[in-house]
Amino acid sequence: MATIHLYRDDSYLREFTAKVVKVHENEVILDKSAFHPESGGVAHDKGYLEHNGRIYNVTFVRHDKQSDDIIHIVEDPSDLREGIEVKGVIDWERRYRLMRLHTAAHVISAIMYRDYNALITGGQIEPEYARDDFSLEKFDRRVFQEAIDKANEIVEKDIEVKIYYLSREEAMKIPGIVKLAERMPPNVKILRIVEIPGVDIQADGGPHVKRTGEIGKIKLLKVENRGRNKRRIYYTVD
Ligand SMILES: [Zn+2]
Repeated sequence: MATIHLYRDDSYLREFTAKVVKVHENEVILDKSAFHPESGGVAHDKGYLEHNGRIYNVTFVRHDKQSDDIIHIVEDPSDLREGIEVKGVIDWERRYRLMRLHTAAHVISAIMYRDYNALITGGQIEPEYARDDFSLEKFDRRVFQEAIDKANEIVEKDIEVKIYYLSREEAMKIPGIVKLAERMPPNVKILRIVEIPGVDIQADGGPHVKRTGEIGKIKLLKVENRGRNKRRIYYTVD
């Protein structure tokens, strides 16, 4: 049985209890976890596991795509054994910033596509800042500043961010979602959909905030021209 990914249904879950399924060197697999792994261009969670009053720091989290397990990289897990129960605690300050910046990235990429015909070609969300690359005919800082200003208007509207599941067949009928869905492994039959009504809709497994108002004010940090398909933007939230 693969790890149950608790953050998919509740991004606000900060603590949970779970059973240890496997310990191998410094890797720990649990039956369920709220830790979000490094994936989809979003940085991994940090935090700790606790058992019998001892704290085990989680320094990195990755997703094994083959098994769908969440693998926690833990400092010295030698006292952890298969079958014991642990408490997991997420570094919430870090995670909440990732959620806010990740949701901001959805809004910005939707505006870039809608108003400037720019496709997102890459990106990375860190707790301190986010960066995105766009394919854009002409490099112009004002375009990015305008897109950020428009994104802040959507933040102020405080729109609900909806999470639901659709069959692959139904999801593929939604315009704009197809390109991303095609990149999914063909064995995935149910897709998790993240929709900001009137703004953006994507198949996406990551953690987001519940309302755009939670993003807070988005600030443009800098822009870089790395070529036609890499008009790069850095931004952060307050
Ligand atoms: Zn997302």
